[in-house]
Amino acid sequence: MNFRYLITVSGELPIKSSKTRIKFYRTLLSNIKHLLKEKGSKTYKLEIISAKIFLETDTDVLEDLARVFGVMRVAKVEVMEFSDIKDLVLKIGERTKDMVSGKKFAVRVSRSGEHNFSSEQFARELGAFLKPYSAGVDLENPDVEIRIEIRDRRAFLYKNLLSACGGLPIGTEGRALSLFSGGFDSPVASYLIAKRGVKIDFLHFFFGSVSATRLAFSVAKKLTEKWFYGHNPKFYFIDLTELIDFLAGKVRWEFRQVVLRTLMYRIASKVAGKKYSAVITGESIGQASSQTLANIRSCELVSGIEIPILRPLLGFDKTEIIDYSRKIGTYELSSKVCEACAIAPKKVRTKTEVEELKSEFEKLPEDLIDKAIAEMKTLDVRSSIIDDILVQKSVIIDYIPDDAVVLDLRDYSSYIKWHYPGALHYDNVNLEELKDKTLVLYCYAGAKSYLEALRLRAKNIKAYSFAGGLENIKKIAKS
Ligand code: ATP
Ligand code: MG
Repeated sequence: MNFRYLITVSGELPIKSSKTRIKFYRTLLSNIKHLLKEKGSKTYKLEIISAKIFLETDTDVLEDLARVFGVMRVAKVEVMEFSDIKDLVLKIGERTKDMVSGKKFAVRVSRSGEHNFSSEQFARELGAFLKPYSAGVDLENPDVEIRIEIRDRRAFLYKNLLSACGGLPIGTEGRALSLFSGGFDSPVASYLIAKRGVKIDFLHFFFGSVSATRLAFSVAKKLTEKWFYGHNPKFYFIDLTELIDFLAGKVRWEFRQVVLRTLMYRIASKVAGKKYSAVITGESIGQASSQTLANIRSCELVSGIEIPILRPLLGFDKTEIIDYSRKIGTYELSSKVCEACAIAPKKVRTKTEVEELKSEFEKLPEDLIDKAIAEMKTLDVRSSIIDDILVQKSVIIDYIPDDAVVLDLRDYSSYIKWHYPGALHYDNVNLEELKDKTLVLYCYAGAKSYLEALRLRAKNIKAYSFAGGLENIKKIAKS
């Protein structure tokens, strides 16, 4: 069986200069071919018919076409050839008379080519043919619309009409690197920029939680499979646990979150190099204390970032972002990603002076930053599996096994003030005696405990690091 579609491209495309227009149409056609291949279509015919695109294929791809950037509307159509106006009125009238039965209807016609009748004339004659079968003509509030496109000697009768995503064909606007955590914000930010024709690759920082990273990868995959026809994005994975551990030891509490953000910009700048035209983040003014306008300024200045940062969500409220994530299909997965890294559970400065931030940020050794980048792993979003990378990171756990011994790695006075029920202080245990036990280590942010767990694993001790550190273990202690 063959399916036929008439695709209306975004209004911006036909009005571009001829050179640009040709490039945009060519990219759009190639992206549609990519979709057809993904959907298993074996034969197809693609044709540009005065600004629209006609597609005939063996697979039903109506809804998929509505998700190709650069497509504004898509309709399933019936195609017919005709000799004159009478012939066409009869052909369409016979096919649509059941549709108008008992209903008020309107005929909408658009026409291009040489004909000895006008669109209005055709609409009037078809209207007259259909009227006896219907409840009358109503051009303002019809129950059904009969839409016809007449192009030279062919006519296209619309069956289903969907409004599509709009935007520009992916690949017409270069490349950008999206800082991607997979929560509500970063997928929506990535979508909005990709929709304007930009090819996006994802840069993800591993903060110590295997499940958060696995989810981030799933969200990237979902976004890609649903919307990025014509593009095979990469997913860059950078392990930040060592830097976070260092940061948690050296940087003052109130600066940690902003230093981390500055670090993300610095790394993004280095990774992007000359390959990318911009970096994308899901930041929104004031959403978190590290995202106040003043802090955004300080972080950006101190990071020395050498590439523009696009922040398409700056003016969005959280509820608007969440509505968007429902619309683009990332809501379910994103809602499982816990928001932000609990690196600084205490107060964060909402206005950090550049000089202060600079002196805190400079505590991080540049060679540690370069090492993290040098160890970066690259995955192909469509075909790779994240588990290969994460297996070695699976010392992280988010529950306490029944027989486990819990060890607190913080300073002793903090341990005295509060510790997980039954937990021992790390400095006061004899590891030799515990070497056959399962150990769960926790610290403030989950970074130090992660590194320590890795060291113990190297000694054949079954040690885990508790995900997210103090804040999270307090939660399970309560429950
Ligand atoms: P999101 O909702 O996108 O997950 P978030 O609210 O969890 O973000 P924020 O602290 O608000 O995280 O971070 C703001 C932005 O910083 C994110 O939108 C994203 O662009 C970037 N970012 C945060 N965490 C990461 C990460 N683990 N890897 C890469 N980028 C990140
Ligand atoms: Mg956010």
